[in-house]
Amino acid sequence: MAKSKKEKLYEGKAKIIYSAEDESEVIIKFKDDATAFDGAKKGKIKGKGSVNNKMSCFLFEYLEKYNVPTHFIEQLSDTEMKAKKVEIILVEVVMRNIAAGSLCKRYGFKEGDKIETPILEFFLKDDDLHDPLMNEYHAYALNLATKDELRQISKLAMKINVVLSSFFERRNILLVDFKLEFGRYDGKLILADEISPDTCRFWDAETRKKLDKDRFRQDLGKVEESYKEILERVLS
Ligand code: UDP
Repeated sequence: MAKSKKEKLYEGKAKIIYSAEDESEVIIKFKDDATAFDGAKKGKIKGKGSVNNKMSCFLFEYLEKYNVPTHFIEQLSDTEMKAKKVEIILVEVVMRNIAAGSLCKRYGFKEGDKIETPILEFFLKDDDLHDPLMNEYHAYALNLATKDELRQISKLAMKINVVLSSFFERRNILLVDFKLEFGRYDGKLILADEISPDTCRFWDAETRKKLDKDRFRQDLGKVEESYKEILERVLS
């Protein structure tokens, strides 16, 4: 029996995962839908799917050049990427260079404070539990990852931070913070998910203008334009 080419495997808030012809691969479709504050705020950002897909494809390919293994295979269309089918590790990894968002709420930093030694944080990827902050011992106790995997994840996250911070610095952009997800593929750990204005905070280095999802979260206006601007500056 001919297997249908594209079967929906999973639909999340911002992406749909489809099967690919090769069972070890998937097709990721980036949507314009946007959510914030634990799903309490919902909306659409026209063109976001295309921006997030193109930026993710570009940055995954860029990171591969620095020997960061990723799930990226190829860009299929404006909003679709072919990727390796990974088993996602249910740990959201956040790296922070400048204080913003939950770091300010939790620890009293002022937004914009420079963090001399970048902060690495782990969150449990579980919407029902509202993605609580956790440390490596929670991850072991919950059987989310082995010690060796978390060591690799931490090392990769710090390397990615160095590589991407300097990439953005050359484009006059501050990489304030970002979230990564990793997966297992063929017995190895690789970077998965996306790297986009939905998952990173980007500020113009001179004006500190926000060029990311905070424009949507905080109703700052010019949301679509800002997504387009940051993509153009990445591709320039
Ligand atoms: N982030 C994300 N997905 C989440 C939570 C956070 O991609 O579910 C990103 C967010 O865009 C930011 C970084 O991780 O770049 C740190 O987010 P923070 O903990 O400050 O949470 P927020 O203030 O966004 O709720």
